[in-house]
Amino acid sequence: MLKEIEGKDEKIFILRNIIEIRIPKNVYAKLEKKYSKEYIISYCNAKRVLNRITGRELVFVTRESGIPLLGHSAFGIIDRGTNLLQVRCVTGCNLNCIFCSVDEGKKSRTRKTDYIVDPDYMIEELEKVVEFKGEGVEVHLDGQGEPMLYPYFEYFVEKVSRIKGVGVISVQSNGTLLNEERISEIEDYVTRVNLSLSSLDPELAKKLHGPYNVSKVREVAEMVVNSKMDLLIAPVWVPGYNDEEIPKIIEFALEIGAGKKYPPLGIQKYIPYRFGRKAGKSMPFREFYARLAEYEKEYGVKLILKPEDFGMEKREKLSCPFRKGEVVRAKIVAEGRLVGEKLCVARGRSVAVVTEKRVGEVVEFEVVRTKDGIVVGIER
Ligand code: SF4
Repeated sequence: MLKEIEGKDEKIFILRNIIEIRIPKNVYAKLEKKYSKEYIISYCNAKRVLNRITGRELVFVTRESGIPLLGHSAFGIIDRGTNLLQVRCVTGCNLNCIFCSVDEGKKSRTRKTDYIVDPDYMIEELEKVVEFKGEGVEVHLDGQGEPMLYPYFEYFVEKVSRIKGVGVISVQSNGTLLNEERISEIEDYVTRVNLSLSSLDPELAKKLHGPYNVSKVREVAEMVVNSKMDLLIAPVWVPGYNDEEIPKIIEFALEIGAGKKYPPLGIQKYIPYRFGRKAGKSMPFREFYARLAEYEKEYGVKLILKPEDFGMEKREKLSCPFRKGEVVRAKIVAEGRLVGEKLCVARGRSVAVVTEKRVGEVVEFEVVRTKDGIVVGIER
């Protein structure tokens, strides 16, 4: 579980394939005379912690860190006023899709920090939110990245399945990190896998995602169907790239028997976001739905989906302790997710603040966003 590598000037420890801890060799040499390896890794101040997959700084979000799990879009719990909670345990992705709405992967130009949440901390906080929400809650593991990179995934879903009130656990995944062993470890706890498969053509898939093994992901799709879990195939339709792949993906999903209880497909429209990657023009919504309606007729399958198809319903939303436009002072506790941003803590929430100030300083900011409890501020 703990790999050790000799770097040029640093000792490198890799924990669970994703957490990379770098300690200057001269510091390590002094400490190892007195302390155990585990002690040095945990408490050495001079260490750098990185996400091994993306190479970015990795902030460990624990209860002791004082970083709340509400308020941020990159990690923690997001409540958009329904019985579905988005739960984000880790950021970072092993792919670099040209249409990625959160500009993820090693090639990202906008993301400068990754976060990983301690599983026990997440479970304790999730229990409180689920209690507030009531029965029949869906815990949806998604995020700014690939959720299966979470090294505590199996442990986490098992614990979440025992939370009273949780009825469904679903996960959004690119499928590249799933295999027979992992599927058998999670099938008793995870209800549905939403698999983002956008091309069945190997060359086009590489163009869309970077290095990518289509046949492996096809096999994974079949393994999920043959497990206790349900499968929903969720391609992103990127006009000019995979138009011809969409009917082939519909046929594939129907052929393998995706959608035992839920719809087999959730085709997503490519939308260029401000801080996401741009892959050309998007299709107007009207055209998108008209084309889905045509495919619905042709294949006899429901493709225009509604929240009710997933058992979603409106529920009271957690209240947000901020108002748009108000001015707040808060301490910067960590680097921010985006370039030019820092992570602040105020009123029990994590807040992304656009500022040039440093970690440890206090910043005064104006709240510019509070939608769905995600709080963003800009330094005054
Ligand atoms: S798999 Fe998802 S998170 Fe990863 S780069 Fe592609 S779109 Fe982004």
